[in-house]
Amino acid sequence: MFTRELTKSPPKLDIGQMSRILVVEDEDLIREMLVLALEAEGYAIATAADGRAALGLLQSGESTLSLRELASGANSGTLNEFPFELVILDLMLPQINGLDICRLLRHQGNPVPILILSAKGSETDRVLGLEVGADDYLTKPFSMRELVARCRALLRRQRFGGLPQLPVLRFKDVTLYPQECRVLVRDQEVNLSPKEFRLLELFMSYTRRVWSREQLLDQVWGADFVGDSKTVDVHIRWLREKLEKDPSHPEYIVTVRGFGYRFG
Ligand code: CA
Repeated sequence: MFTRELTKSPPKLDIGQMSRILVVEDEDLIREMLVLALEAEGYAIATAADGRAALGLLQSGESTLSLRELASGANSGTLNEFPFELVILDLMLPQINGLDICRLLRHQGNPVPILILSAKGSETDRVLGLEVGADDYLTKPFSMRELVARCRALLRRQRFGGLPQLPVLRFKDVTLYPQECRVLVRDQEVNLSPKEFRLLELFMSYTRRVWSREQLLDQVWGADFVGDSKTVDVHIRWLREKLEKDPSHPEYIVTVRGFGYRFG
């Protein structure tokens, strides 16, 4: 059932911790490329070349058994009741098409994230795919890098499914990832202290809003902070050094005379 022996995966990985992905694709070449790309990322891959085989795997829990056997002796307590954490699903398949599989899984209450692959790119197919309960959609031909990135995002979302998603904040050349506590400036990662990060997050959540130093102290340092508003100025200076091309002529964090600061 598994196209590769799982024991060939990097030995450090505990199979109980590896995300298991089912690839459903009838075109051999594409299926093979997907398997290679995803295995290189450390995922455990099972494949099906038609709709019936896919449903069989999804409903039997057979792969869970194989994984359990392979993981015997290892810490396999994390396997859940569903055999896969992600399904990559081609739409045009022999026997049962992708849309029907998707519909059926959702009808049965299976919450596994589904990424649809399709040669059709029209808006109707996209909408239809998402309407029957798919989570994402890629049109062929697609880049493997993009596919891998989307898989990673879907798996991450599933892992933290109960938590609200914080949107990524973007302004000009600055991108802030609230959940990852990361900031990119002109595509370069910059290191911010926790206070600098909170300050930037606040600014980027309300671009062009003018903040007084007291308001910033309240929001970022908390009402019981002991100290004065010079603390704000110092942190603004440090942030500017990390964000601005020319910190003495800032384009992001702008001083508003007599009031305070604004972003943008
Ligand atoms: Ca196909």
